[in-house]
Amino acid sequence: MNIGIAKPFIGQEEKQAVLDVLESGQLVQGAKVEAFEKAFAEYHGAAHGIATTNGTTALMASMMAHDIEPGDEIIIPAFSFFATASCILSVKAKPVFADIDPDTFCLSPEAAEAAITPNTVAIMPVHLYGHPADMHRFEEICENHGLLLLEDAAQAHGAAINGRKVGTWVTASFSFYPSKNMTTGEGGMALTNNDEIASKLRMIRNQGMNQQYKHEVVGYNFRMTNLMGAIGLAQLNRLDDWNDKRIVNAEHFDAHLTSVKTPTRRDGVTHVYHQYTVRVPDSVDRDRVVQHLNSKGIGARVYYPKPIHQQPIFQELGYVDAELPATDVATQQVFSLPVHPALTEEEKNYIVNEVNNIC
Ligand SMILES: *Cc1c(COP(=O)(O)O)cnc(C)c1O
Repeated sequence: MNIGIAKPFIGQEEKQAVLDVLESGQLVQGAKVEAFEKAFAEYHGAAHGIATTNGTTALMASMMAHDIEPGDEIIIPAFSFFATASCILSVKAKPVFADIDPDTFCLSPEAAEAAITPNTVAIMPVHLYGHPADMHRFEEICENHGLLLLEDAAQAHGAAINGRKVGTWVTASFSFYPSKNMTTGEGGMALTNNDEIASKLRMIRNQGMNQQYKHEVVGYNFRMTNLMGAIGLAQLNRLDDWNDKRIVNAEHFDAHLTSVKTPTRRDGVTHVYHQYTVRVPDSVDRDRVVQHLNSKGIGARVYYPKPIHQQPIFQELGYVDAELPATDVATQQVFSLPVHPALTEEEKNYIVNEVNNIC
């Protein structure tokens, strides 16, 4: 057995779409990108999609478009991928780390609210592992405190709360890296419902221009290529089917895994299982479990072994003392199992047996 943690799928449609773009000669941002932006925004129910080179640049562009400035504080979870925080540093603002809800692993609304200071300008929850953060609570908190609500939706294409998809509050960032629920190789997209922010995002990703050689804001080259746009369109057509398969796989594990704590799915939520993340019991050495599963050909992985505030650069920046008990426990206890749509019945049963045997 050799079951990887992710298995991106590139089919005939993607190959043909890329060939068509190559033959058209229109390699850079163009009609395919525009069509992909429209389709991805419509699919989620957002007004605008602005495609970028990757998820990190979508996050960075969102910070710039919302005029996040030096000294501004943005509250985020430390239990996430590094880019959730580095995009804030990229505009010289200050990430403030708050603890997670131990059940969903997403930013805790209570902890986030307690971290608000006079310098706070925004809260940016992460829909970690594909489980939507509690957006309705965050919306309330942001309204009460006059804060901007952003979303890091890099792991949550198609996730929803009572049918409302993520990416539809104010401005959200998605990633199309190959391990994500759909891919364009590298690639990213910002979704926003705000017309003015959308037009700023378009300028920021294209050298600050709306018209050729008229640079109205400080912008860069964050443009997606037409090759990526064409792949994205083909992948988007498969997204619902893939997410359904992830959910079926997750439900199989939920029903059969007895040795570990299976993931929580809040009522009314569409969890798209970017990762299927379990917890080992208190007495069990997580790293040994993962090593053992790896030796059995199961690509179990730890997301994330070290919270962002404990990374060397954040220690250097003075984040030594952040107290995030639920985050600390999670980093010691979690691991993720392959849940991707290409898993076979045999592979699923093999995973269940091996995991149940071990602890
Ligand atoms: C993948 C990811 C990103 C960054 O996306 P890239 O496309 O790799 O730049 C940001 N935030 C989270 C939570 C991610 O998982």
